[in-house]
Amino acid sequence: MTRRWEIPPTAGLPLRWRDLLNLSGDLAPALARQFSLPLPALTCSGTAALIIALRVLQQRMPGRTRLIVPAYTCPLVALAAHYCPPLRVVPCDLQPDSIDLDERQLAQLCDESTLAVVVTHLAGRVADVDAAKRIAGAVGAAIIEDAAQAMGALDDGRSVGLKGDVGFFSMALGKGLTTAEGGVLFSRDPVLHQALHRHCRQDLPFSLRWELQRSAELWGYALLYQPRGLHYVYGNALRKALANGDEVAAVGDDFSVYDIPLHRLGGYRQKVGAAALARLPDHLQQGRVRALRRAARLNALPGVTVIMDRPGQQGTWPFLMVVMPSADTRDAAMARLWTSGLGVTRLFIHTLPGYAEVLPLLQPGGDITRAQAFAARTLSISNSHWLSDALFEQIVDQLKVIVARPD
Ligand SMILES: *Cc1c(COP(=O)(O)O)cnc(C)c1O
Repeated sequence: MTRRWEIPPTAGLPLRWRDLLNLSGDLAPALARQFSLPLPALTCSGTAALIIALRVLQQRMPGRTRLIVPAYTCPLVALAAHYCPPLRVVPCDLQPDSIDLDERQLAQLCDESTLAVVVTHLAGRVADVDAAKRIAGAVGAAIIEDAAQAMGALDDGRSVGLKGDVGFFSMALGKGLTTAEGGVLFSRDPVLHQALHRHCRQDLPFSLRWELQRSAELWGYALLYQPRGLHYVYGNALRKALANGDEVAAVGDDFSVYDIPLHRLGGYRQKVGAAALARLPDHLQQGRVRALRRAARLNALPGVTVIMDRPGQQGTWPFLMVVMPSADTRDAAMARLWTSGLGVTRLFIHTLPGYAEVLPLLQPGGDITRAQAFAARTLSISNSHWLSDALFEQIVDQLKVIVARPD
């Protein structure tokens, strides 16, 4: 069946025309109020926020040259090290069927040369920061909370990003609130927080060229971020990449160090973001209700599990991260659903060593077989409100057939 629409892969917050023309808001104070954060520094991307955080930490702890990150994460996280020489990235394995770092391996990898450990709130889920903090703290390494996909998530009742030394959100296209690329950077430690602000002012110059390009992209998002528009700007590119057998391009993972400009987040886009932010709490709450209902449906399928939050934690739900019983069933599901227009896709295709662009920055760590199994067995189902209950049931029906089949 060919459809002339495409459900977005994540539940991005749609923009309204009046957001583009409402110039009254101020994004940083609005974010601080909304999520009870110290007044954040705004950057041109989540990756730029991470780069600034790393540079500040390097200045405070010179001589520490290793950054430990989850082996399954956004390749941009590893590419950030290119802008922080001589930093090298050490991938750490995950716990089985989990986004949390393997504690035993993390303890083995952490030493006096470790600058920081990145804990990632992947898929909006609240990762275990406390455990990583205990292990990293023993060697004096910092904790950076990568909350790129988790703006609005609560860890023990407070915003994610406040337990570790530094936290950041992304405002890239599709990640909830968007400024067509943007980052939000903060620290609960007032001295470190001021240093982050200072470094942003120093290292991120205003760029008229980037500001014009990103503003145009933001207008494009307002116009095309709906199923009919996405059929053309997202769906066609996805199908073409898959037809060429290029899964990495299909999910937009094909990054290089040249995809990381460093400049300021312009005032106009901040105002658009501030106008849209007023609708984010309702958007996240509706998404939470929808996702929990649908996760229960999926968890009832034999051998299928959705990554959930631990008790007391309240994440956000850009999409549901589904672990299939095997790599074969995951691949069978993708063969049926990837080009269906129903918002089913994969997050990152590989673990970090699977990306050629990342390899020169990596330092071998331990065995990462569980992260590899996670990459091989997971798929994501959009939590967009455009995916109606009836369409969601079409996905469930397909998965049911696949997991019922005897191996
Ligand atoms: C998207 C993402 C980033 C990078 O954020 P950008 O704003 O795209 O630079 C970092 N970490 C994770 C887990 C992400 O998903």
